[in-house]
Amino acid sequence: MATTEVLVSRGEFTNEPFTDFSNPQNRAAMQAALAKVKSQFNTTYPLWIGGQKVETGEWLKSTNPSKPDEVVGIFHKANLDIANRAVELAHQRFQTWQRVPAAERSEIMFRAADILRKRKFEYSAWVSYEVGKTWPEADADIAETIDFLEFYGRESLRVAQPQPLNPMKGEKNYLVYIPLGVGVVIPPWNFPCAIMAGLVVAAVVTGNTVVLKPSSDSPTIAYKFLEALWEAGLPKDVIQFCPGPGATVGDTLVAHPKTRFVGFTGSKEAGLHIQEQASKTQPGQIWIKRTVLEMGGKDAIIVDDEADLDAAVEGVTLSAFGYQGQKCSACSRAIVTEKVYNSFLDKLKVRVEKIKVGPADDPNNFMGPVINKGSMTDILKYIEHGKKDGRLLTGGNRLPGDGYFLEPTVIADIAPKSKLEQEEIFGPVLAVTKARDFDHALEIANDTEFGLTGAVYTKNPKKLEKAATEFHVGNLYFNRKCTGAMVGAHPFGGFNMSGTDSKTGGKEYVMLFLQAKTVAEKVS
Ligand code: NAD
Repeated sequence: MATTEVLVSRGEFTNEPFTDFSNPQNRAAMQAALAKVKSQFNTTYPLWIGGQKVETGEWLKSTNPSKPDEVVGIFHKANLDIANRAVELAHQRFQTWQRVPAAERSEIMFRAADILRKRKFEYSAWVSYEVGKTWPEADADIAETIDFLEFYGRESLRVAQPQPLNPMKGEKNYLVYIPLGVGVVIPPWNFPCAIMAGLVVAAVVTGNTVVLKPSSDSPTIAYKFLEALWEAGLPKDVIQFCPGPGATVGDTLVAHPKTRFVGFTGSKEAGLHIQEQASKTQPGQIWIKRTVLEMGGKDAIIVDDEADLDAAVEGVTLSAFGYQGQKCSACSRAIVTEKVYNSFLDKLKVRVEKIKVGPADDPNNFMGPVINKGSMTDILKYIEHGKKDGRLLTGGNRLPGDGYFLEPTVIADIAPKSKLEQEEIFGPVLAVTKARDFDHALEIANDTEFGLTGAVYTKNPKKLEKAATEFHVGNLYFNRKCTGAMVGAHPFGGFNMSGTDSKTGGKEYVMLFLQAKTVAEKVS
């Protein structure tokens, strides 16, 4: 089918609905999927390079953060030779993959979306076990993955259509978007399916080939996603599956002269390092590497004295503690005007202390574990620091048991510019700061190096108007939580040290993986 026909036949994009787990049938389906997935723990997975299985005999083990003794998957780990080979073979494969018609590539993505839809519970179960997401959080991760397949599938077709140009007398002129080449994709673990898939799909659907280095905390879900793409008809040599340590394998992939671009989501530190590596021209390199870097945040919710305080407490709680605060969009700062400061804290304490923490596969828990031991240790250090810099309102401890469970923690009276107010913690820790008034709150909110998400709670339209122009974040929300961006509705990505200003789930996103070529022919 031609580009336009496929676009028309697939229909308008709509978001994949979330699963209603209050429905007993859905609950039973999720329990069955969890049991099925658990029976597949401890499987060993190969690398896939040039369409071939590769085994190195050096292992990387992915464990369940709710029960660290459980091994979710065992992965052969890439070494530097394999990393170099992966880029070389991806480069060879690019010569033919780039010529595959856009319609064919998009149809593979649409078939993969259908496969994920059919096996949604199973995919959610992998996410829940591998990275400690509760049922609704895991379900949202898979729904977003389906959205990316559907959305970028359509956007790729849209840009493959004839593009408008001013006509030139005596000439036939046109413009086509062509792919870039080999993309190295380096995703984080926190949206182990959605973010990984978003980066991979946008690159591959537009005709690039990929070397995927998944996060060492979530290689299994990446592998399972590739299985869906392969089943949907993606040739196995288009994406090289190359797990390994970021510092060595990641560096080698980024530095390779045949790497044309890097798609990364992760911390500011790793992102800046990649930017630096990618900007060094290597012998034999004939292009300037492009980087798409989505990085951290220190996201604030402003609670004004004209706010609905109950709604603000709910929004702050969900934004700060959903998925244990391990979202780049999570609220880690509540900035509250002094008139309502004390009453906000009283209500917040009551609400946060209702949160249940425990294994992510148990649907009674709102919070699961943090991702790993190192992360837990770092978060506890921040909490200790916060106890000195501010006043512990609630939480502050690790919970008993083997899993990496932390109490939801609120530290009040944190001063602007202090460590807890400036640095991304990436865990269930909320710093609360008092502001003199709304303008002061806005000033504090803007005073970090990040600019990812933010929210404002107030009933005053003038204040909202002011925030709309002055609150400098990529995703700004009014009278609602600052997490939960939806593909197509809330194109997502931040300013300043939060990244390269790209917008995932937005119309222009696929353009980051393409370049324009103009052809003009003299006609008589
Ligand atoms: P991370 O930076 O530790 O790791 C991200 C990826 O980079 C991993 O695959 C890792 O192996 C790799 N890596 C690490 N060092 C590398 C190097 N030197 N060279 C190449 N690759 C390297 O981040 P994380 O802990 O996986 O994820 C959490 C971070 O991601 C947080 O800072 C969060 O805010 C951010 N994040 C941002 C967004 C966004 O859209 N802006 C979305 C999700 C997460």
